[in-house]
Amino acid sequence: MEIDILTIFPSMFVGPFDTSIIKKAKEMGIVRINIHNLRDWANDKRKTVDDRPFGGGRGMVLMVEPIFNAVNQLKKGGRKEKVILLSPSGSVYNEQKALELSKLNHLILICGHYEGVDQRVADYIADETISIGDYILTGGEIPAMVIIDSVVRLLPNVLEEEVITAESFSQHKIDSKIQSILDYPVYTRPADFHGWKVPEILLKGNHKEIKKWREKEALKITKKIRPD
Ligand code: SAM
Repeated sequence: MEIDILTIFPSMFVGPFDTSIIKKAKEMGIVRINIHNLRDWANDKRKTVDDRPFGGGRGMVLMVEPIFNAVNQLKKGGRKEKVILLSPSGSVYNEQKALELSKLNHLILICGHYEGVDQRVADYIADETISIGDYILTGGEIPAMVIIDSVVRLLPNVLEEEVITAESFSQHKIDSKIQSILDYPVYTRPADFHGWKVPEILLKGNHKEIKKWREKEALKITKKIRPD
C-alpha cells in the first residue's frame, strides 16, 4: 500500500510512523508513507495555500487549487485508490471502514487546518470525507495518523491474523446475527496488587473454561458500555 499525505504541517508527522508496528511495516516494504507539503503546489512566490472565506466570517480556508494540483499529480488511477478528506463533517470512522481501506493499494489523505477546506474539495476532488469522531481538532494531521495506524495494522503480514480477528470491533456471530463486540479484559502479573485480584479462573490453566469466561465477559462489557 502507498499512502500520500497532504499537509501544511509536515513536521507533525515526524515520530508516529518511525516507531513500533508502523515502522516495521515500512521496513518490510508493506507500506510506503509519503508526507507532502501542500505549499509545494502553491502558485505564488509566498507559497500561499489559504485565504479568507467568501461571505466573511472567521478564520482562513485552505484553497482548492493547490489541493487540486497536488491530488492530480499524486493520483495513479485505478479502482484501488481513494482520495480522502479529513473533516468533522465527514462520515464517522470505525473499524469496518479501516478494514475497507486496508483492501486498497493507494490512499491520498488531505489534512485541513484553520477554519477548514474549500467545500469544492469535498464536492469534486475527494472520494470520501471522513471524521474520526464528534469533536474538533486543530487540523487533519492527527486524524490522518489515526487512519494510517488503524489501516496499516490490518495489512497482510503486519500482525498475526489471530490478533486482528480477536480484538474489539471485530465481527462475531451472536444470536445468528453478525455483530461487533468489545474485547475481554486482560490481566498480567502480579495476581494480587494491594488486594486488587485477578479473576481466579485465569490462574487455573483450564483453557476451555478461560475461553468461555472471556466470551461471557466480552459480551457483558459490550452490553454495558456499547449497547448499540
Ligand atoms: N470549522 C470546521 C468545523 O466546524 O467543522 C472545523 C475545522 S478544524 C478546526 C480544521 C481541520 O481539522 C479540518 O478541516 C479537518 O481537516 C481537521 N479536523 C478537525 N476535527 C476533525 C475530526 N473530528 N475528524 C477529521 N478531521 C478533523
